[in-house]
Amino acid sequence: MSDKRFEVTILPRYCKGCGLCVEACGEGKLYIDPRPDMEGLLNAAVRDDVDCTGCLKCATICPDAAIEVYRVAEMASSVASE
Ligand code: SF4
Ligand code: SF4
Repeated sequence: MSDKRFEVTILPRYCKGCGLCVEACGEGKLYIDPRPDMEGLLNAAVRDDVDCTGCLKCATICPDAAIEVYRVAEMASSVASE
């Protein structure tokens, strides 16, 4: 279903939960996880069911370099279609 070409990773040790990345992402890929981490902080998190366009807006706006965006290998997404 999802032809995923980009992978987004939040580095929780750098994220302070400011939410700038959530506002920057027009795809709704990111959200603030309401569950606090071990230090009691809220962190940004990634929705698996939303595709990332690789625009890098989130990584660019993050003041703490807490986001990594990777291009993933192209999958043979048309194999199953006829
Ligand atoms: S912009 Fe950076 S520090 Fe702020 S919530 Fe997003 S990942 Fe965390
Ligand atoms: S790279 Fe763009 S589409 Fe992907 S999560 Fe960041 S802001 Fe959203």
